[in-house]
Amino acid sequence: MSFEDMPVEVGVIYEGERVRKAQMLVEFGGPKIEHKYELCRAKKMDEIEDMKVIIEGPDISELEEGKSYPFGMVIEVAGEQVEEELEGVIERRMHEFCNYIQGFMHLNQRYDIWCRVSKDAFKKGLNSFQYIGTILMRLYKAELSIIEKCQMRFITDPKKAEQGYEEALQIYEARDARARALSDDDVEEFYGCVLCQSFAPSHCCVITPQRMALCGAISWFDARASARIDPKGPNFKIEKGECLDPIKGEYTGANEAVKEKSLGEVERVYLHTIFEYPHTSCGCFEAIAFYIPEVDGIALAHRDFRGPTVNGLAFSTMATSVGGGLQTEGFLGISIEYMRSPKFLQADGGWSRVVWAPADIKERVKDGIPEELFDKVATENDAMAVEDLEAFLKEKQHPVVEKWVEEAIEEAPEIPAEAAAPTPEMQYKMPQPMQVPQMNVPITAMPGMGGIQLQGFISLPGLVPPGGGEDKITLVLKGVKIFAEKAYIKREKKG
Ligand code: SF4
Repeated sequence: MSFEDMPVEVGVIYEGERVRKAQMLVEFGGPKIEHKYELCRAKKMDEIEDMKVIIEGPDISELEEGKSYPFGMVIEVAGEQVEEELEGVIERRMHEFCNYIQGFMHLNQRYDIWCRVSKDAFKKGLNSFQYIGTILMRLYKAELSIIEKCQMRFITDPKKAEQGYEEALQIYEARDARARALSDDDVEEFYGCVLCQSFAPSHCCVITPQRMALCGAISWFDARASARIDPKGPNFKIEKGECLDPIKGEYTGANEAVKEKSLGEVERVYLHTIFEYPHTSCGCFEAIAFYIPEVDGIALAHRDFRGPTVNGLAFSTMATSVGGGLQTEGFLGISIEYMRSPKFLQADGGWSRVVWAPADIKERVKDGIPEELFDKVATENDAMAVEDLEAFLKEKQHPVVEKWVEEAIEEAPEIPAEAAAPTPEMQYKMPQPMQVPQMNVPITAMPGMGGIQLQGFISLPGLVPPGGGEDKITLVLKGVKIFAEKAYIKREKKG
């Protein structure tokens, strides 16, 4: 497959490339834009014209620099073996293939896409969707031989993008509803996906009928269809094996698959809890579940929730900390569809443990929330700080409040006054003085002539031994990621 006639290069080496704001010519979709979507539609052979690119609205060269635009990106595919069941997985490959294009960035999926064209790519001639469409279709045909014909549509006209967006939402919903009829116990096998390993090398999704992939784009049906048509592709069958814990969702087959695909990095995975061995999180999750120790509850936030959540951290901040294929107890990337699952965090109490969620999310998954709990889950309109949340939960008699009382009774032994005063040793171990009230780690790795320079600082107020002693404190940073734009290999001659 050749791309010599294209103005920019194409290949896996561009997969991790980010187009940052300063380098961006224009962006499509993203947080500022409501109407954005990508879609695959299966067509009959005579319904489409092979390799045709249709642009509905202004093309790249006609757009104003620095602006964000509504966007639809639709691939229509046909072939003897192409069926509607495959639409979801063909669509998901859009993320991978778009990111092969030098100077074109694609993030997220479905109704949440965010694409950018860089100024450099535009200068090289990437000034039309004709090029992007042609490259994508060549990649699709090369990778998925079942696609005999395909055509692509790019929609930037605001009215058409709005209409297409509404239709796309209905199509996604119909796909997801199909998977809702099946339970994990009805099937003999689960499916895995490692498409995100280019960004998150130890990440492996375990997809079950009741646990939609965390990107929200691949159901058990989608993964099964994909594994069947593309056995060497990113999706594969996982034999369930023995069920070690039906509540937490631990299976020997899932453990073995995750261990193998993460190259030993992850050895166990519990599918339905955020504690102990939670599922790994890549970077594409639609939403995040996070534990709030002060109220012993779980909060949820989705990608579109702007600004800080109830724990003071924004979705993006938490996503940066837990993404990359990490298994982080107390934080879990999930799909919005999973919030509707009867097995949703069942080992943790499911919805009876959820204490806070954006109003938008509550409305979207209302049919999955037990009626008696709906008003007990706080939103941004009820509490934006942990103290306010505590008061709200007490007032509403949320089920977690009962646990506070039980725990307080169990944990309140009589302590003599003199013993209650912490010794220096005790203080050192107690969480309060060691707690990090604010952690600023604005370090950036800058490629420079001398190699990688770390710029920035680490400020950890509160991380001092009580009494200012001379004890050494070791700071261990786990899950640190270093992004390098280029790597130079230098050969040194002997002698
Ligand atoms: S999030 Fe999981 S299912 Fe979705 S593309 Fe990535 S690896 Fe595959």
